[in-house]
Amino acid sequence: AAAAAAAVFDKAARPADACVLAPAKVNLFLRILRRREDGYHELASLFQALELGDTLRVWRLDERATSTMELVWDDGADAAAERPEVPTDGSNLVLRAFELFARQVGMPLRVHVELTKRIPVQAGMGGGSADAAAALFAANRLCGYPASMADLRAWGAELGSDISFFFSTGTAYCTGRGEQIESLPPLEPRREIYVLKPAEGLSTALVYRTLDLGALSRLDPDALLAGMRRAGGLLEPANFVNDLEPPALAAVPRLADIQRTLRARGWRVVMMSGSGTSIFCIGSPAGEPPLAGWSDELRAACFPTRFASRAEDDETVWYGE
Ligand code: ATP
Repeated sequence: AAAAAAAVFDKAARPADACVLAPAKVNLFLRILRRREDGYHELASLFQALELGDTLRVWRLDERATSTMELVWDDGADAAAERPEVPTDGSNLVLRAFELFARQVGMPLRVHVELTKRIPVQAGMGGGSADAAAALFAANRLCGYPASMADLRAWGAELGSDISFFFSTGTAYCTGRGEQIESLPPLEPRREIYVLKPAEGLSTALVYRTLDLGALSRLDPDALLAGMRRAGGLLEPANFVNDLEPPALAAVPRLADIQRTLRARGWRVVMMSGSGTSIFCIGSPAGEPPLAGWSDELRAACFPTRFASRAEDDETVWYGE
């Protein structure tokens, strides 16, 4: 029993056993179709992975040790800035993913994880889900690949609806409660996108609770998808809709102010991702640097990044050594 006491792991003593990248996502469109009998919402959404991502460095520990993790913030904010609440105990999705993996494959697996956080939290960018998917992948690598990618995807779906997406090629049409994933060819490789994360956060649960099912957009998701896939579709504001935007804007009115400001500056597409509060911008105003005229506050909250994708058979792009 004495051996179970969590010792502080000395990561300087040896290099990490695995280092994996967990890319963020945005929802280019998100339609809520209906509420199901099991309480989940049936959705149809076009997910896109981004180059912006978290990094997980993983050390394998003795199997009698207790798994531990630490957070390193690399989000561009100054060191004294207040951070959102992200647990580092067993409730973090990363440690839950390692535990689930060990249970599923029946192998003891104890780890120390250093999670470098760049994906804004409570942003609708799938940060926790991306980390969990990367953790499943890292666990599989550490154990010599006992599980298939299909296994990892299925186990991920047990932990959270959005996790399956991160086993796709980076652009995917998601249906069901988000766990049914169809990978699509890239819409536009490395397309520039500017993500803004206001200081206010929003919990996904609150947004769904205040969603007015009678006021949904009713746009046909197949038509939206076809529109996105046409040349120039990413610069066509009519292809972008997010049914979670009205309740989020009602909860945080400043989001609507920011959107108005950005549209007035000439951005083609200005849209909230997922359940918010991040706002992404595509199609910068012609003839000037993208962030020209932005206030210092907006600039500080902006993450310029690009669409990310990988080939179906290439895991190394996101989950490289
Ligand atoms: P989504 O796009 O999936 O709705 P989100 O942006 O709303 O995600 P996350 O950043 O994933 O939200 O985090 C939501 C909450 O989950 C956090 O407030 C935090 O308490 C908890 N959490 C657990 N594990 C993690 C993790 N690895 N990274 C970030 N948050 C985590």
